[in-house]
Amino acid sequence: MMCWRDGEVELAGQVSSLALVDRCRCDSDSCATLYCVPKPEGAWGSDHRNILLATKEGLTVVDVLDEKIVCIEILDRAEIRARVLELLL
Ligand SMILES: [Zn+2]
Repeated sequence: MMCWRDGEVELAGQVSSLALVDRCRCDSDSCATLYCVPKPEGAWGSDHRNILLATKEGLTVVDVLDEKIVCIEILDRAEIRARVLELLL
């Protein structure tokens, strides 16, 4: 796991244009994870990596596959979760 660095700016630029395909369907009350591509059957694959974002609250991890953002894991952010549930029932 690594942190968002200057070199990741290109990835950061993708955030505003990401398509949201689905949200995580786990039972956790703290989970607001979003999928930008359909969730894979198994693991993401060998070119997959995680980037831990420096957030003040909660935990946000961006999942990158082949230099594309495929998933954003968002934990312990009640206001984002409420929004996610509203958008993606
Ligand atoms: Zn989840």
